[in-house]
Amino acid sequence: MRVFKHHKDLCAYLELQRGTNSLIAFVPTMGALHPGHLSLIRAARQEGTLCVVSIFVNPTQFNDPADFEAYPKTLDADLRLLEAAHCDVLYLPDALDIYPDGPVQTVSVDLQGLDQRLEGAHRPGHFQGVVQVMDRLLGLVQPNLLFMGLKDYQQVLVVRRLLDTRRWPMNLKGMETCREADGLAMSSRNLRLSGEARQLAPKLYQTLQEVAAGIRAEPSKLADWLKQGRQQLQHAGFSVEYLEAADGKTLEPIQAPIPPDARLLVAAWLEQVRLIDNIGLAATDPIPS
Ligand code: AMP
Repeated sequence: MRVFKHHKDLCAYLELQRGTNSLIAFVPTMGALHPGHLSLIRAARQEGTLCVVSIFVNPTQFNDPADFEAYPKTLDADLRLLEAAHCDVLYLPDALDIYPDGPVQTVSVDLQGLDQRLEGAHRPGHFQGVVQVMDRLLGLVQPNLLFMGLKDYQQVLVVRRLLDTRRWPMNLKGMETCREADGLAMSSRNLRLSGEARQLAPKLYQTLQEVAAGIRAEPSKLADWLKQGRQQLQHAGFSVEYLEAADGKTLEPIQAPIPPDARLLVAAWLEQVRLIDNIGLAATDPIPS
């Protein structure tokens, strides 16, 4: 695996590879890699001929400085995992390489309200930060294929808007969420859960499934099922930011009848850790054993 810390070296290398007709598949990450990231890398390797991964903990997408400071960093283990996953190129920049003029806004994308709803409403500035870093990373790597996780469903919609705005012909693939055996969505932030919180955390996915099943059975009682789900989580010890049923493209709240691409999305705190998850509302997600 080739590791580049400077964008000029990265771009020079990728330019050479493009000349040999390589299909560049890109997986942007913030490190602290887990099997969810590795599933994206596996898919990237299957569909591309050159797999590029980036690790950069992007300061501009953290609306909470304490969360940025506490973000787990496990570079040695990440390097081993990337080698084992046969990643071809790792781009490992520092903030100056990504933001040579400081974290100023270099691109403006009309997110059509996506940055006002759900994650956007609870994390002001977060998606504009995501847009800034993705614009920079995609401009440098210029991948043919881009792999991102549906665990961050709203982020996938935001990056699609960026691609549309830039008219970049990149093929964005939204990949299914990898879960622990008990259903908890894998996340770098799970490392920060205490033993007790880790035991409780799968309740988030269980509740999504129960609420989804209730809404599928009684779509006209959608609001009641959402309320019950929120209460259930609060009683279990979560502090719920939102649990909403939304249109799969606009993330506007929905009502019966349920559109085929509707999602059920949740964000909740357990102790000092903020967890998010989502599932399709119309289709049945498998129940973990
Ligand atoms: P992050 O390092 O958290 O910025 O995530 C990097 C990429 O991995 C994003 O596209 C995430 O959506 C994706 N990802 C994170 N967790 C999972 C998971 N459990 N399953 C699949 N993809 C994931």
